[in-house]
Amino acid sequence: MRMPKKTAFLNTVSPVDLLRRLVATDSRSPGALATPMAPDTITEETLCALIEEWLGELGFVCERQYPAPRRPQLLARRCPHPGRPTLAFSAHFDTVGTAGMTVPPFAGELRDGRLYGRGACDTKGSHAAMLLALARLCHDPLSPNLMFIGTCAEESGIEGAPRLRLGDTPPDAVIIGEPTGNRLVTGHKSHLWLELAVHGRAAHGSTPEAGDNAIYRMAEVIQSLRRLAETEMGRESCAGFTPQTLAVTVVAGGNKVNIIPDQCRIQADVRLFPGTNVAAFVRELTARIKAETGQTLDVLSQHGANGFGAIPNSPLRRAMAAALAAASRDATETTVNYCTDAGAFAGFGIDTVIFGPGDIRQAHGPTEFLELAELEAAIPLLTATARAFAVAR
Ligand SMILES: [Zn+2]
Repeated sequence: MRMPKKTAFLNTVSPVDLLRRLVATDSRSPGALATPMAPDTITEETLCALIEEWLGELGFVCERQYPAPRRPQLLARRCPHPGRPTLAFSAHFDTVGTAGMTVPPFAGELRDGRLYGRGACDTKGSHAAMLLALARLCHDPLSPNLMFIGTCAEESGIEGAPRLRLGDTPPDAVIIGEPTGNRLVTGHKSHLWLELAVHGRAAHGSTPEAGDNAIYRMAEVIQSLRRLAETEMGRESCAGFTPQTLAVTVVAGGNKVNIIPDQCRIQADVRLFPGTNVAAFVRELTARIKAETGQTLDVLSQHGANGFGAIPNSPLRRAMAAALAAASRDATETTVNYCTDAGAFAGFGIDTVIFGPGDIRQAHGPTEFLELAELEAAIPLLTATARAFAVAR
């Protein structure tokens, strides 16, 4: 194991300069992993290469995995302590796009103790805090073994993390870097994106009785879905979580004003309690709609990402709660409404929490920023958590 160089970039850079560098490194998501790309399309590659270089200077052994061409994920390991557990820090490389932004997206402008730019909050602030915590832990005799896992295609629906191959030496625990306001998050719901269709029969617009109007059929389906969402689904409860939701978010049907439409499609965003069997939910939903409205729904596509709930007997939860309490910060566990890579790691059987600087309300917004005080607070909280985790068995 190489010893970390004192002059390594991460040993000398300040938190604000590191965050500015990360924001300046454009890593906008080119879309889903299956999206075709032009040769000059921005992907996660430049940011991945930069972080790989910096961690290499600290003695991390780096491996890249490509779930799709030019869509890298990074596994970096530094494990010089036999017998100690391995703690991973993980954050997604990709950001959403810059359309609608009213601040320069990549300049890293500083105003009133905030750094502005795309990704400053979601989730390059977490990257900065984690990388600087790793640099400190490399010189700390009480550190656990360390990993950094950078993922791709998070913003297109958590596509990268489930495709990680962690091999024979997965980490014992992982902290997912997302803007939690430096709070300990131990769960979020599963999400499901559905595309559904009903079919009818086309006819001339002047003879509607000769056709079968698919938009009218879908209108009944939409009403039925709304009733279901606002009554039963919304009334179920799960300790620690806000209610489940279902919202019809896109409608498309018909081709021409004088043709009775033969097809209507909708998309729906569904958020379910963790542990829900998503495939069974879709089967029950379509059966329910059939029984209530007589309409047969065709499931054109479904894309889901797992939620997770607080992991029992979690050494990482205990370690982070202790670190937060020792710093006189709120150490109570909470859940969030957004979906993250955490569901994938928990699905691998790994002790998982979410933690990072920033406010999720800033994520994806026109004036995205990070409070620098939060970034600076996150670094010692991560190092203290790691030290506590090293002995929390
Ligand atoms: Zn994020």
